[in-house]
Amino acid sequence: MLSIFRYFNKESYCQMVVRSWVIFLVLFCFFGVFDASAGDADPYYKSCVTECESSGCVGKTCFANCKYSSDGSSVEGLWYLREPLYLRWKQWDCQSNCRYHCMLEREKHREAQGLGPVKYHGKWPFQRLYGFQVPASVALSALNLAMHFHGWLSFLILLYYKLPLNSAKRPYYNFTTLWHIFAFFSLNSWFWSAVFHSRDVDFTEKLDYSSAVALLGYSLILSILRSLNVKDEAARVMVAAPLLAFVTTHILYLNNFKMDYGWNMKVCVTMGVAQLLIYSIWAGVTNHPSRLKVWLVMVGGGFAMLLEIFDFPPYQGLMDAHALWHASTIPLTYLWWSFIKDDAEFQTSKLLRKLK
Ligand SMILES: [Zn+2]
Repeated sequence: MLSIFRYFNKESYCQMVVRSWVIFLVLFCFFGVFDASAGDADPYYKSCVTECESSGCVGKTCFANCKYSSDGSSVEGLWYLREPLYLRWKQWDCQSNCRYHCMLEREKHREAQGLGPVKYHGKWPFQRLYGFQVPASVALSALNLAMHFHGWLSFLILLYYKLPLNSAKRPYYNFTTLWHIFAFFSLNSWFWSAVFHSRDVDFTEKLDYSSAVALLGYSLILSILRSLNVKDEAARVMVAAPLLAFVTTHILYLNNFKMDYGWNMKVCVTMGVAQLLIYSIWAGVTNHPSRLKVWLVMVGGGFAMLLEIFDFPPYQGLMDAHALWHASTIPLTYLWWSFIKDDAEFQTSKLLRKLK
């Protein structure tokens, strides 16, 4: 089963892995991820939104909540004229209703002219479903959340009920706490992803992006600690501290200074590719019995990232590349937790053999 590794000696395997990931990164930068949104630069769309915000109507569709914000400036300035937060969350406010309906109008015209869909404010035109903005991504984020919860739960059961515990009733596995924290960051990230795809407003976007960056940063730290098998607390802190400082600064920058999508994507892809690289090399040189699982997750993860690069418009206004990306991480999550459990079993038996 693992004969694939025997075809290469370890050195040439490392070179091959590094070369493939470098090509991947260069391709990524070359194609770029962010095209300026052609949709919201369109003069027809712009005038439609401006008119809608003052009249409260797009064609025959009118919005009651526009009466609060017909005069954009005064509403922004006077807090008591704004709708309460729970209404702004549940209902669509004037601006987002206008933008959504003007976008549908423009897309109808573009389709009649034989033109394909374009992005508006950095996002593809999606059809709302039961008030959910990007229903496919919401469902897939929820499935990812469920998959992580299932993986984490089975990890807990394995550690505390199936494997032997030490005299202090703690697992022998050295990476237990680190994987618990990984589970927390993953669950948190997929929860906010589901919320953000349900309703894209400023604070849900910030929470989704911040949680994703935190998860990526933490998994990068973990990839270094696990692949180098760092068990010493002081050494762990030394590896984690600079990365934690960088990730924290980046999150503060996004939230308090500028939500820079291009820069954030570069940071995320670099952190993502770095850990894929680390684990791929490790899988090639280690004698770990579950190295094939690591290798499969890394290759699968690389292909999944391609979906973010070769971004395509949503099929039927529902399923786009981003949603497919969320779909692809579901089997990878299952496989990853399966590796974590194998690792716990393997390390525990190795330690017990040493203790005997
Ligand atoms: Zn998403």
